[in-house]
Amino acid sequence: MVNIPSTQKAVVFEKSGGPLVYKDIPVATPGPEEILINVKYSGVCHTDLHAWKGDWPLDTKLPLVGGHEGAGVVVAKGDQVTNFELGDLAGIKWLNGSCLSCEMCNLGFEPNCPHALLSGYTVDGSFQQYAIAKAIHAAPIPKGTDLAKVAPILCAGITVYNAIKESGVKPGQWLAITGAGGGLGTLCIQYAKIMGLRVVSVDTGDAKAKLTSQLGSEVFIDFATTPDIVSEVIKVTDGGPHAVINVAVAEKPFELSCRYVRPRGTVVAVGLPANAYIRSEIFSTVIKSITIKGSYVGNRATTTEALDFFARGLVESPIKIVGLSELPKVYELMEKGEIAGRYVLDTSK
Ligand code: NAD
Ligand code: ZN
Repeated sequence: MVNIPSTQKAVVFEKSGGPLVYKDIPVATPGPEEILINVKYSGVCHTDLHAWKGDWPLDTKLPLVGGHEGAGVVVAKGDQVTNFELGDLAGIKWLNGSCLSCEMCNLGFEPNCPHALLSGYTVDGSFQQYAIAKAIHAAPIPKGTDLAKVAPILCAGITVYNAIKESGVKPGQWLAITGAGGGLGTLCIQYAKIMGLRVVSVDTGDAKAKLTSQLGSEVFIDFATTPDIVSEVIKVTDGGPHAVINVAVAEKPFELSCRYVRPRGTVVAVGLPANAYIRSEIFSTVIKSITIKGSYVGNRATTTEALDFFARGLVESPIKIVGLSELPKVYELMEKGEIAGRYVLDTSK
């Protein structure tokens, strides 16, 4: 039998933007269809920062334990759970649960389920040592996997892999990524390479220029110093990228991407800057016949596929590990755009 403590360490906030308190809280008991995961590591996604700030038009649970890239070990399960055994490795994803009986779930569009439960947003997430997940949606992680490195795959990896598929881009074609040096962007470069694409990265600073190139991006365009980003992207891709994945947390790059995308190309919105709109001039939208679409995490099949690429050693997770108690410092760096890659929290510290 696994010894489960009655209390654990967690980072909790009582109100949006309020103090992030590292403290002891009770360990929850899983319901009939749930598993309890002893979270060893959790990635810090920019979504967690949005959740804490409360800047999206969707209320969070309060008080809230954030986090949705949690990797750990199953230590308890409800009596209806058949797909996990105690001791298995499992991941907490953004999509904690969905109804599996609505039209969206039936079609495999589980993230679009109107009854979706969101980890670290509408239910407590992975910034704690023991977190609950609906067993049917928890990610199965192969035995022997490095839990710190797999953590960012559980949101960032799944999301960008899904977005590339949604873009319809084909091997040999150009993909532009805005926000390429951040958590989602650095994984997007790698999934794109595996899928046979040529990558141009848009972000800023020497650290991100270096990292994106190490990961396989062919060109770096610094948005802060390039006078005409649109012309530059069109020039280096000889006519514009066939698709653009926008993971930048700013409105402007979405608009620019509609201007530089190649005729018949696809602009994918993934980043979620608050109160922002995608502006695309109608005449050129029609004449170039471009597609503009959103992409939202991934379903269970996409999760398995994204994890499989990682398990086969095809995706490097560019992480820095710090203790759970250091979450406020990570948010500070993220707010300033100073994180190249992903921070992962060690829940034992
Ligand atoms: P991050 O902070 O690690 O990376 C964002 C990057 O955007 C940074 O490197 C920053 O320098 C760059 N950036 C800022 N302004 C830019 C500009 N004008 N042009 C180009 N790049 C710019 O964030 P992340 O964790 O990668 O998350 C990115 C966004 O994606 C967040 O808004 C997050 O909420 C969202 N997200 C969406 C989904 C989804 O399913 N659609 C899933 C996960 C995260
Ligand atoms: Zn995320």
